[in-house]
Amino acid sequence: MSQPSPTVITGIGVSPGRVVAPAVLMPDPIAEPPSGRRLPPGTDYAAEAKRVGAASEVVRAALDAAADRAQGDSADLLHATAAIAADPTLVADAEQRVVDDRLVPERAVWEAAEAVAAQFEALGGYFAERVRDIADVRDRLVAELTGRAAPGVPAHEAPFVLVAGDLAPAIVATLDTDRVLAIVTGAGGPTSHTAILARSRGIPAVVAARGVEAAVVAEGLVLVDGAAGTVTVGPTDEQVAAALALAAQVRTFDGRGHTADGHHVELLANVGDPSDAAPAAAAGAEGVGLFRTEFGFLDREEAPSIDEQVTAYRRVLAAFPGRKVVVRTLDAGADKPLPFLAGDPEVNPALGVRGLRTAARHPEVLEDQLAAIARAAAAETAEVWVMAPMVSTVDEAQQFVAACAAHGLPVAGVMIEVPSAALLAGPILAHAAFASIGTNDLTQYAMAADRLLGAVAELSDPWQPAVLHLVAATCAGGAQQDRPVGVCGEAAANPALAVVLVGLGVTSLSMTPRALPDVAALLAVTPLDECRRLAQLALAASSAADARAVVRAGLPVLEELGL
Ligand code: PEP
Ligand code: MG
Repeated sequence: MSQPSPTVITGIGVSPGRVVAPAVLMPDPIAEPPSGRRLPPGTDYAAEAKRVGAASEVVRAALDAAADRAQGDSADLLHATAAIAADPTLVADAEQRVVDDRLVPERAVWEAAEAVAAQFEALGGYFAERVRDIADVRDRLVAELTGRAAPGVPAHEAPFVLVAGDLAPAIVATLDTDRVLAIVTGAGGPTSHTAILARSRGIPAVVAARGVEAAVVAEGLVLVDGAAGTVTVGPTDEQVAAALALAAQVRTFDGRGHTADGHHVELLANVGDPSDAAPAAAAGAEGVGLFRTEFGFLDREEAPSIDEQVTAYRRVLAAFPGRKVVVRTLDAGADKPLPFLAGDPEVNPALGVRGLRTAARHPEVLEDQLAAIARAAAAETAEVWVMAPMVSTVDEAQQFVAACAAHGLPVAGVMIEVPSAALLAGPILAHAAFASIGTNDLTQYAMAADRLLGAVAELSDPWQPAVLHLVAATCAGGAQQDRPVGVCGEAAANPALAVVLVGLGVTSLSMTPRALPDVAALLAVTPLDECRRLAQLALAASSAADARAVVRAGLPVLEELGL
């Protein structure tokens, strides 16, 4: 009997893995309470206002309890959302609207949340990204005040694929991964918190799958390919069988990355919290290609002491005895604001005093950090490399290398995240020992597309040929000076794109440890010449979609590997 042909919706794959399961749609979101809804005369307005505070306490407690059950990034995000729920400004504003304007509490909450969201939106950057979390808190408060179930993932017996218009990070952070096998959203971007959380929790995910909610049938089978970014609605029996066979394969990484013809490509781990280091080593990472040191500085009134920093850095170095660990100095500003480093408010924080630029204003913070790194390096056997974020000029590179040398740190390099640095990689690498390309920011600055903004997700794509040309320019600079050039942005974790990066001349790839087995598996069956040929095809493409398509078409083995 012939089957109806499946519909394939293409979005952006943000977390790899293939899953076949019934689709479950997120319920309709909480509707806005009508604007004219006021309390009848004679109501005890103060008592009604108090219900807002009580609801905020219930919502905060529920979020904190969920945070306590979660780990790492997920727990932090939930605590952050809980803090919004308990925000006295939000609660006081809503209470005042009940008393002064006689609004029903749910309407008062709605309006107060809108006001807070508008302020955050105006602040831009990190704050604008929190707007989705404010809406999530608002909906939870309205549900609590109107006696409805908290908005969220429907209860469903069998494991399923969750399909939604958009998903708040707080929801992704708490998903039960035994029940929710994959997520698909119609909106969202590849560097949104939702995408980052899905990746860190290992949930296959596709975002920006426009029209997916209308296309799927509730309980109907869907095949999600989180690497290719496709959602097949009503897959054929053959597609289902192939996906299940691939899902049954368990892939591991044996600790040495190489192409089919034996060209060594170092496969390294990105580490955030020091507690991530030991699991990264256990996953076979050859070293650490990016240790983001911001973790120790976030939510602090002042910089951590040198001793505190030494302890944290040693924990990472100790997990990689005798191995390379690239420590990035503080990358504050823009999407990672640090109160004690903040200067005057900036209209465009991503273009402001961020990354290495903060060292001009607070030289002591960099000095202390380099001292701490040097002490940690002296106490451990790891081979410590140090690099600065957001280097834009040859002078900055030269000064940073000199500062490292003064602390006895001989291997000092730069991140290439700004197009100017990519174009001047040769002169920069005349001073710096190595370069590591941060494709997340390089894409943002090359494409003039805020990496946190879903509306420009199609531009924020490291497959953009312009970004690949900047990677090629950096590699040419590296070859000219005989310096290694790595990639530590999210692009390194995408197997097909990793092949292109190697073909462009990149010598190491640093990624979330979960991605190591897939990237290693594809490289191991692809000869270096083939990487180079595919890289040329990607450079010649006229769009990100074409570059991705032409490379994937040139790698039929992707299908076999389920990537
Ligand atoms: C990058 O920009 O690609 C990068 C690795 O740095 P971060 O994501 O921490 O800005
Ligand atoms: Mg960056």
